[in-house]
Amino acid sequence: MLNLKSFLSDRLAIDLGTSNTRVYVQDEGIVIDEPSVVAIDLAFQPAGRVVAVGFEASAMLGKSPEHIQVIRPVRYGAITDIDAACAMLSRFIHKARSRSRFSRFQAVIAVPAGISQIESHAVIEAAEAAGANRIHLLEGTLAAALGAELPIAEPVCSMVVDIGGGTTEVAVMSLSGVVAGRSTRVAGDQINMAIKNYVRRRFDLLIGDSWAERAKTSAGNACPQSGDNITIEIRGRDVTSGIPKTVLIDTHNIGEAISGQIDAIVQTTQSVLEEIPPELAADVIDRGFLLTGGGALLKNLDLLLSNRIGVPAVIPADPLSTVLLGAAGSLDCMTDFSTHIIAGCSRAARNIRPALV
Ligand code: ADP
Ligand code: MG
Repeated sequence: MLNLKSFLSDRLAIDLGTSNTRVYVQDEGIVIDEPSVVAIDLAFQPAGRVVAVGFEASAMLGKSPEHIQVIRPVRYGAITDIDAACAMLSRFIHKARSRSRFSRFQAVIAVPAGISQIESHAVIEAAEAAGANRIHLLEGTLAAALGAELPIAEPVCSMVVDIGGGTTEVAVMSLSGVVAGRSTRVAGDQINMAIKNYVRRRFDLLIGDSWAERAKTSAGNACPQSGDNITIEIRGRDVTSGIPKTVLIDTHNIGEAISGQIDAIVQTTQSVLEEIPPELAADVIDRGFLLTGGGALLKNLDLLLSNRIGVPAVIPADPLSTVLLGAAGSLDCMTDFSTHIIAGCSRAARNIRPALV
């Protein structure tokens, strides 16, 4: 039911991811898509002052003077720095609403499945401080399933594998509940770390995150076919001489570097499948599973997972936006009640404390 309060406010959907934060404004579309990074100037006492967020803060990573701390406040599927996360969230909200006619807004915020009650409260408080008069928190895997229009309310197997920066979240849903779910810290960041470690061992070269990311996205391939080999140049500092150096790295090298991480993602997915009842297991063979999040963009990862697990992986049109679109789709379902957490999928599976109402 539409009341005056909801009529006189904007509606926002927010995906608070470990790598990227995205904001959708109803009737406008996706207005923010920036790294979940915040830069704080510690020279301002006592708590420091936020000097940049998103792209601007990300450009400072590894390059800032000592008094500027550049933080990724949402790591490993949890909010590791609550104050910084809240400051970042409120900056993004203000930016997204800079042209708004209304002082208040309502929001559905997709958050990592494993966030604690304290972290949930902090996110709600940050959104309230930015002007929200009604907030729903939605778990990322549930949002992804909604965004891909999986029939989660029906008695069929809807399975999601969401590979983000900090975590890979796997959930199987049926009849609007979670049948099995698991989360692992092996995801995009750890894949980058594996590339950095490999390059150091193999080429005596220290590289930064951005070069590891470049190697992964341009030459990485989870299941190379003939003719797929790509060679690229990467730059860093020689471990022994300390002098800047360039080396060539190819698809085969990256495959060696990340095979352990790929195996871990396969194992996590398999372990969830092993927990589901036979009826749903039979279902998933026909229906496949949704492979989403930025990690789904690793070349041929869908092919590798389909081959190793024996279940087809289906990648949505824009795996980076699936969670946000799911949150946006649920804006119209916001009830007229006040702020609450739609705990959705994994509470039962991971023993997360009950929802706040
Ligand atoms: P989160 O939801 O945790 O913020 P995203 O879904 O936005 O994460 O995905 C970000 C991750 O996706 C990063 O680790 C990034 O390296 C990875 N990624 C993005 N594009 C590609 C690509 N083409 N190949 C492999 N990984 C990619
Ligand atoms: Mg995500």
